[in-house]
Amino acid sequence: MAERYEHLVRFSIPLRKRMAEFKWQPERPLEHLLQQLEIRGINVVADNVLSQEDSYSQPRFGLTVLCSGRPPLAYINLLKHNNSSCNELDAATLFDTVAHEAVHATAVALGRHEELPEKQDSDEYFLEEVCAHIGAGEINQRLGFPLQAQRNRFEANMFQLSLAQKTAFNVACARGIDAANYLVPR
Ligand SMILES: [Zn+2]
Repeated sequence: MAERYEHLVRFSIPLRKRMAEFKWQPERPLEHLLQQLEIRGINVVADNVLSQEDSYSQPRFGLTVLCSGRPPLAYINLLKHNNSSCNELDAATLFDTVAHEAVHATAVALGRHEELPEKQDSDEYFLEEVCAHIGAGEINQRLGFPLQAQRNRFEANMFQLSLAQKTAFNVACARGIDAANYLVPR
């Protein structure tokens, strides 16, 4: 995990700095969220190596790595959010990715996991994704992209179909709200 962490740090720069290279100012909701994450010691960085084409070919919009003794790292695939111009949709999807990864970044602080589950077909992995979707939806609701909030709730419901235990799903949803409360207190 330490190796992966170091690798991502080496090939990234702070998100704001990378956005500035594209003359993309964080909109108010994102600026607010980034400040909240800074206060909580969550390191938000953006890829600094991939070309736009390569970034589109990547499956992920972002990635979170938790490594013992290091601040949680939220790594954002920025070019994947930045089409030809900085329109509303890009701002909303970038905000959502940062919020989603930020929820994952709370896993240790809020006692969900010591490391994030990686096995993509495990219940543990899906439940952590449900938590991140619901938490990001709540953060969207509080800071400015309510349409995204609705979408996230809908997507989280899709996960429900693949889970045998409804209780586990509901617990994951509640943990998502806990994470939102921790990151963006009302
Ligand atoms: Zn996720």
